[in-house]
Amino acid sequence: MARYTEAVCRLCRREGEKLFLKGQRCYTGKCAIARRSFVPGQHGQGRKKVSEYGTQLREKQKTKRFYGVLEKQFHNTFEKASRMKGKSGENLLQMLELRLDNVVYRLGLASSRAEARQLVTHGHFTVNGKKVNIPSYITKANEVIAVRESSRKSPKFQDLASRPVPAWLSFNADALSGTVVQLPVRADVDIEVKETLIVELYSK
Ligand code: SF4
Repeated sequence: MARYTEAVCRLCRREGEKLFLKGQRCYTGKCAIARRSFVPGQHGQGRKKVSEYGTQLREKQKTKRFYGVLEKQFHNTFEKASRMKGKSGENLLQMLELRLDNVVYRLGLASSRAEARQLVTHGHFTVNGKKVNIPSYITKANEVIAVRESSRKSPKFQDLASRPVPAWLSFNADALSGTVVQLPVRADVDIEVKETLIVELYSK
């Protein structure tokens, strides 16, 4: 499975905002955005005029990196989203939110989406009682995502940092499980993104 293995803080600096890719470190003064808030590389501090295409590309890159999805999978998700009823951009964000790795992260069972992805791949979760180890699995309304019985004593799930759980999910800390109580709508998505620019980019 392909994955990004370079320094992830560079991705935040490239997009000019926090993408929360490093767990607890992102909430401390050690965050690279707090310390070096300019684009990495030799010409990072120079002024640049950004074209329309460049603006659309940056929105797509930012969203893709926020959810930790590589290009091919992101494009495939967009294709599926555009075949659904409703607005393609909003459908895309909804599908990204409903990914199993994102749900695990949103429930506070992992400190970052990258860690959530790894925990899912290692088979620590069930969906409606069945083991699912596919991070891109799209969860559905009323599905219950839980830490597997055999994984509950793992240090990974002890002393979980408490994070607010979004309204479309519910979390049972004792059972280490959560439920998709409703499908997320645009207002539930906290990433600052103009999804219409992504639609425009892929429509070229
Ligand atoms: Fe981004 Fe987190 Fe690194 Fe800050 S610490 S630059 S938010 S990955």
